[in-house]
Amino acid sequence: MVLGCGDLPFDYLEYLVSRLDVPLLYVPGNHDPSLKPPDMTWMPLRAELPVPGPQGCINIDGRVFETHGFRVAGLGGSLRYKDGPNQYTQAQMGRRALRLEVSLRLKRGRNGRKLDILATHAPPFGAAEAKDAAHVGFVAFLRMIRNFRPVLAVHGHIHPYGRAIPERMIGPTRVVNAVPWRVIEI
Ligand SMILES: [Zn+2]
Repeated sequence: MVLGCGDLPFDYLEYLVSRLDVPLLYVPGNHDPSLKPPDMTWMPLRAELPVPGPQGCINIDGRVFETHGFRVAGLGGSLRYKDGPNQYTQAQMGRRALRLEVSLRLKRGRNGRKLDILATHAPPFGAAEAKDAAHVGFVAFLRMIRNFRPVLAVHGHIHPYGRAIPERMIGPTRVVNAVPWRVIEI
């Protein structure tokens, strides 16, 4: 599968999904436009609106998606540092993560595991070297990793600028920075 961890041009994601015969799951980054569906309150029923975001790709922001026998959950966006879409305070992301945790717990787990892969734009708190407010990462991701012990937590947002960023472990979970791109074998 392909996991897009945000801040990637939509036409690039569409190119990838058209060339590779595998599902492409993605979350939006803080530099992506809002993917919230438009307000349909006053639209006639059955009005067809184009799905926002890259076509042929699956937006897993705040959702659980199962593919290839893996249960993948996604949370897009970064810490709020200015006005704009896909930015959240720690408390706002905490609530988004909690909603996801509830739906994960409702599902029957495989091999005793209810989550295999957590795909996020921002890193879990403390996992990246960055200390500034925009890049420090979310406490809620750390909590999800500790609670669900997925095999993999993959994130974007932190640009290594040519340096090799080592993988980290949080318990049994591999934490991988996918910027600019990574091949990950599970
Ligand atoms: Zn970002």
